[in-house]
Amino acid sequence: MNNIPFVNLDRQYDALRSEINKAIQAVIDSKAFIQGPYVRAFEESFAAFCGCSYVIGCSNGTSALSLALEALGVGPGDEVITVAHTFAATANAIKHVGALPVFVDIEPNAYTMDPAALACALTPRTKAVLPVHLYGTPCDMVQIKSATSQRGIAILEDAAQAHGASLCGRPVGSFGDAATYSFYPGKNLGAYGDAGAIATNDDELARRLGKLRDHGRSSKYLHDIYGYNHRMDGIQGAVLSVKLKSLARWNARRRDLARRYDAAFADRKFKTILAPRDAVPVYHLYIVEVSNRDEVARKMEADGIATGVHYPVPLHRQESFRKDAGNLVLPTTERIAERILSLPICGELSDAEQDRVIESFLSVARG
Ligand SMILES: *Cc1c(COP(=O)(O)O)cnc(C)c1O
Repeated sequence: MNNIPFVNLDRQYDALRSEINKAIQAVIDSKAFIQGPYVRAFEESFAAFCGCSYVIGCSNGTSALSLALEALGVGPGDEVITVAHTFAATANAIKHVGALPVFVDIEPNAYTMDPAALACALTPRTKAVLPVHLYGTPCDMVQIKSATSQRGIAILEDAAQAHGASLCGRPVGSFGDAATYSFYPGKNLGAYGDAGAIATNDDELARRLGKLRDHGRSSKYLHDIYGYNHRMDGIQGAVLSVKLKSLARWNARRRDLARRYDAAFADRKFKTILAPRDAVPVYHLYIVEVSNRDEVARKMEADGIATGVHYPVPLHRQESFRKDAGNLVLPTTERIAERILSLPICGELSDAEQDRVIESFLSVARG
C-alpha cells in the first residue's frame, strides 16, 4: 500500500502540469520576473475571489503581516493583542515593527481568539488586534469587532490558513482593516516558492502598502517613504493565477473530508474543530484531540500515514517570546497543545485513503 503524505503536492501538480508549465514559461519569455503583469493579474483575480477592493502581492505571509502592521501605524511602544496558539510568524511580525505581542487565550471549540479574553487584555497602549483564522476556521469577528470598536483599535486578520473561508456570508478578511495571506506551498492556495498578500478595502492603506513593499517608490527612482523589498515574483503570480481557479473546488473537497472525519469520530466522542454557526471554514488543517498523541502518531507512521502537530509549543512558552510573555498562563492553549493531532486533509486525498487514516487512528486513539 502507498504511503499517505500530509499534503499531496505531487498529485496536485500532475492534474495541472501543462497549464502550470505554460504559465511559468510565459514569465520566463517575458522576463517579468518581479511584480509586473503576472503579479497584477493575480492580485486582481484574488481580490475578486476575496470580495475586497485591493490585493497587494508580496514576498511571503510574514512580510504581509509586518507591512500591514506598519501601514496601520503600529510601532515601538504599541501593544498588539494576538493568540499564542498560532504559527510563530504571527507574533514575529509584531516584533518586526517594534511592538509588543500580548497573548490571549483561545476558546476551546474553534481554537481561535476568545473575544472575552481579548476584552480583558485591552490597555491604553493597545494599537491593534491580530486574530488568526487558524486551521481555516473563521474567528468570531463580530465579538472581536465589538470588543474594540469604541477605542479605534485597528484589526488585522491573519488569514494565512483561511483563503476562501467566510462568516455570516462575508469572506474572512473583510471584517478588519486589512487581512494577510500566505501562499507557502502547503497552504490551501500555495505558490511554487514564497509568496503572500495583503487584502483591504481601504484605498489609502492600499496605496501605502503598494509603496512600502517596493522601497517606498512612487516611480522608478523617486521614493516617497522609507520602504522595503517585499515584492512578489512574477513566476509566483503566474502559478497562483492558475491554481486560484481550482481553489473553491479544493476547499469544498476539504469540507467534505472534514465532514467524513467528523462523522467517524463523533460516536467515539473525540473533540474536533467546532466552527462558529454561521461560518464556512476551509480546513487548512483537520485536528482531533487525543490523550495518547505520541502513541497514535507512532502507530499511524507505522501504517504509512503522515500526521502533524499544529502547534506543539505555544508562543508564550517559546524561548523567543519568554521575555515578552513572562509567566503568563493560558489554560486552554496549554491544555490543547498537549492533545491535538493533525490528520491529512488536502484536496487530493481520496475517500479510500481517508478510510485508511480513520481506521489506523481509531485502532489506538483514546479521547
Ligand atoms: C504560514 C503562516 C504564516 C506565515 O506565512 P509565510 O508565507 O510562511 O511567511 C503566518 N501566519 C500563519 C497563521 C501561518 O499559518
